[in-house]
Amino acid sequence: MRLRNKPWAKEKIQQYPQFVIPDPDEHKGKWRVVFGNDKPIHLEIGTGKGQFIVGIAQLHPDINFIGIELQESVIVSALDKVIEADLPNVKLLNVNANRLTDYFADGEIERIYLNFSDPWPKNRHEKRRLTYKTFLKAYEQILAEGGEIHMKTDNQGLFEYSLVSFSQYGLILKNVNLDLHNSDFQENVMTEYEEKFSKKGNRIYRCEVQFPLKRKDEDEERTENVFQHQESKQTVI
Ligand code: SAM
Repeated sequence: MRLRNKPWAKEKIQQYPQFVIPDPDEHKGKWRVVFGNDKPIHLEIGTGKGQFIVGIAQLHPDINFIGIELQESVIVSALDKVIEADLPNVKLLNVNANRLTDYFADGEIERIYLNFSDPWPKNRHEKRRLTYKTFLKAYEQILAEGGEIHMKTDNQGLFEYSLVSFSQYGLILKNVNLDLHNSDFQENVMTEYEEKFSKKGNRIYRCEVQFPLKRKDEDEERTENVFQHQESKQTVI
């Protein structure tokens, strides 16, 4: 994304702490208190100028949305949209997603959206891709049981890389769409990048992936089965 110098952005962000939450570390484990309700929380990483998060939050008042965006000069445009729409279910964080586990407690988030993430095509920048295994580990930690990642991109290389990365990590591929705009997918909310690049004729890729049930539960299930087995043996004796 080409960044325009907006020296006033920082000051504007500070004027709206009800929308761009300062010091997110302080709310770790308490985001439901910030929203004032118990609704599920969906996180968008790399929110950009905010078209997606505002659009999807308007469609789903029953869900709380948090948008993370690194660049002040970009998040300030998302802030304008949030102020205009005045939605109680959207908060923004002007932070780097590489510290997610400092901001969110284990299992605090129900879904993660990755929309048109920076592709970082050079091999030496692999670790910066938002679908690199260290990011997946953080997503797994902050997502609740059965939590999902929904990803869209026009970058074929990033999409292929991400499918392999998801699969190597053991994620379950639930839906893979190789041409979103020529499919029957109904609920699409366009992002700024999506509008720009689909107009140029780029194909849009999308997938939904899910973390498998945690080992803890499998162990509990196995223990239960052992007990059931022992009980049935005792009945026979
Ligand atoms: N999602 C928007 C869209 O589809 O229009 C913006 C896409 S833009 C290519 C990617 C955005 O992700 C940029 O605004 C960038 O600043 C942000 N970003 C990249 N890495 C990030 C990170 N580690 N933490 C937070 N934001 C990040």
